Amino acid sequence: MPSSLVIQTSFLGDVVLTTPLLVQLARRGPVDVVTTPESAPLLANHPAVRALIVYDKRGADGGLGGFVRIARALRRERYDAAFLAQGSLRSGALAFVAGIPSRFGFRTSAGRWFYTKRVDYREDLHHAARLLMLARPNGREPAAEELQPSLFPGEAERRRVDTLLGGTGEPFIALAPGSVWATKRWPYYAELAALLRPHARIVVVGGGGDATLGEAISAAVPDAVDTTGQLSLLASAELIARASVLVTNDSAPQHLASAMATPTVSIFGPTVPEFGFGPLSPASIVVGKSDLACRPCDRHGPARCPLGHHHCMRHVSAREVADAVLALSAGR
Ligand code: SF4
Repeated sequence: MPSSLVIQTSFLGDVVLTTPLLVQLARRGPVDVVTTPESAPLLANHPAVRALIVYDKRGADGGLGGFVRIARALRRERYDAAFLAQGSLRSGALAFVAGIPSRFGFRTSAGRWFYTKRVDYREDLHHAARLLMLARPNGREPAAEELQPSLFPGEAERRRVDTLLGGTGEPFIALAPGSVWATKRWPYYAELAALLRPHARIVVVGGGGDATLGEAISAAVPDAVDTTGQLSLLASAELIARASVLVTNDSAPQHLASAMATPTVSIFGPTVPEFGFGPLSPASIVVGKSDLACRPCDRHGPARCPLGHHHCMRHVSAREVADAVLALSAGR
């Protein structure tokens, strides 16, 4: 059976959106994944993945020495094909130096000179579909059900979440107020929490860097459960799986919800779902100011609003988002 290597060293959300590709490739033969130390735990327990190879390109494996070390380790595995889900020159060179004979990547990627097959980067497709097309460059577009990402929290994650939630089983709405990019953070999560509390318990999810945002929500709703900084990525996925609805920015928790099929309200500001990174949960609502002429202004979300007013987020009201949450809840 042909063996595949998938190189995906991008952001966490991209790693989640690569899982449909992993599932597709696993039908052909064993699949190993090169990824970052931050993302590797996310793919633990995934049945489509035979082995995870951690490439700490900004740390222990930095520089030429680390590159050669990883390339040698990959060469020993004699993979039949590499799929460059992340398109840097370094990733392309890694697959080439590792001696992998077939190398599939996007025509627009910096590393394209190292590919044996260049695949169109289809702007009109969801990113999960674009990635899946790497495995079928001349084939049909994936159906919606093939795009569902997947993650597999284990017993340890279930126990951790049980402990934090106190084992009550009471329905809750999860709020994920963080984002790496400042302009993608919607500023009214505390007000939203106060509006939603009469309807359900509030649980905040996020990384250690989101602690201040969690505190602001707890100040508005004193019995909110603030789990920021207390859960691994996979445990966060487990928590989100149990929520009746997740409210999130255009950031990693949205993709965790897609993988766990949790109904999602996604708030988009400087970015738009048409970039290919919208929610894939079977039930989802996207909220954003579609009539704002300056939007979208950046593929990732700028550090600061170039116009100084940040209307794309500040003009999305807590009431509007609460109504979307209640509409999704009613449909369950
Ligand atoms: S320029 Fe417009 S879309 Fe960009 S951050 Fe400012 S308000 Fe948002």
